[in-house]
Amino acid sequence: MSPAVRSQWSVVPWSFGPWLVVPWSLPIQRSEFTVRPLMEKVVIIGSGCAGWTAALYSARANLKPLVLTGKQPGGLLTTTTIVENYPGFPEGVDGYELMTRFQKQAERFGARVKFGEVQGVDLKEQPFLLTVDGETIQAETIIIASGAGHRHLGLETEHKLENKGVTYCATCDGALPLFRNQPLVVVGGGDSACEEAMYLTRFGSVVHLVHRRDSLRASKIMADRALAHEKIKPVWDSAVTEVLDVSQDKVTGVRVKNLKTNTESLLPCAGVFVAIGHIPNTQVFRGMIDMDEAGYIIPKRGTATNVPGVFVAGDCADRVYRQAVTAAGLGCAAAIDAERFLAARNE
Ligand code: NAP
Repeated sequence: MSPAVRSQWSVVPWSFGPWLVVPWSLPIQRSEFTVRPLMEKVVIIGSGCAGWTAALYSARANLKPLVLTGKQPGGLLTTTTIVENYPGFPEGVDGYELMTRFQKQAERFGARVKFGEVQGVDLKEQPFLLTVDGETIQAETIIIASGAGHRHLGLETEHKLENKGVTYCATCDGALPLFRNQPLVVVGGGDSACEEAMYLTRFGSVVHLVHRRDSLRASKIMADRALAHEKIKPVWDSAVTEVLDVSQDKVTGVRVKNLKTNTESLLPCAGVFVAIGHIPNTQVFRGMIDMDEAGYIIPKRGTATNVPGVFVAGDCADRVYRQAVTAAGLGCAAAIDAERFLAARNE
C-alpha cells in the first residue's frame, strides 16, 4: 500500500460483539479490530435537489462531504423534461441539466461523490456505519436525502409487463419505437401524470389519461394545459384493473373499471405509463429512524431526527410540498444543522 493510501486508513478498536444485525438491512460486521477508512464528517445519502444542496453548504463549511448517489444519480428530477418552477430559470430548465449544475457547484467547493446504494446502516452509536456495495463507511453525521421512488398500481399484470410496455417514466421510455404512433395510457391525476401525458403527445397517436376521480389533482396550470391538448383524452372516475396481454408478453391494452357505474371496458394501447405518486426511499432506516406508516421520516426539530447526528431533507421526509425548491431549501437547512452539531461536539 502506498504511503498516500495508507494515510487514509487507521485501526480502530471496537468494544462489542462481532455481528450487529440491523432490521431491514444487511448485517454490518463489527469485529474487535476493524481496519477502516478515515472518518467522514458528513455523509449525504442521496443526490437529488436536497442531497446536492446539503453537499454545497457542507462543502462551503469545509466539511468535505461525501455524497452517496443512490441507484438514481441526480434523483427523480433527472427524469423530468422541462422544470418551469425552479426560481432563476425564466425559460425553464431541463431536469437533468439542473441536477448536473447542482453537482458541479457542490464539487467546486470540495464535495465528493460515490456511486452506489446504501445496503446497511448502523446508527446505534458513533461513529455511524454505512455499507455501500460491500464497503463500510463511517460517519460522524449523516444527512438522509434519499428521496422517493415511483408508486406502483400493485397489479400482477403490471408487474409481469414492466419494461414490456409498462413504465414509470415517460421521459426515459416515451420515445421507444414500440410507442410511436400508438395509443398510450397514462394513469394518475397529479402534476406527474399531466407532465407525462403532455410529453407523450409527441410520440403517441392518442394519450388516454385514466384517473380515479372526475377532476385532476394537478396544479391548475398543468391540468389546464393537459386537458386542452387535442391528443389527451381523460377517462374519469376509472381505475386500471388489468394490463393486457401477459400471454403475448407485451402491452396490448388495459381493462378499465368505471368506479361510479362498476362497468368494465377495454382500452387498446401499446404502453401504460404509471404516474400515481411516490414512495419514500427509507426502507433501510426502518426500525432506527422515526417514520410514519407510509415511510416518511418524521423530523424532530428542524431537520434533526430521533438519532442525534442524523438529519433528513427532501422528499423522504416531505409528504406535503415535494417540490425541487423545497427539497433544496431543506438540504441547506440539514447541512447547517449538521455543521452546528459537529461544532457543538468539538467545543
Ligand atoms: P401526487 O400529486 O401525489 O398525485 C398522485 C396521483 O395519483 C393522484 O391523482 C392520485 O389520485 C393518483 N393515485 C395515487 N395512488 C393511486 C392508485 N393506487 N391508483 C390510481 N391512482 C392513484 O403525485 P405526483 O403527480 O407524482 O406529484 C408529486 C409532487 O411533485 C407534487 O407535489 C407535484 O406538484 C410535484 N410535481 C411537480 C411537477 C412540476 O411542477 N413540473 C411535475 C411533477 C410533479 P387522487 O387524486 O385520487 O389522490
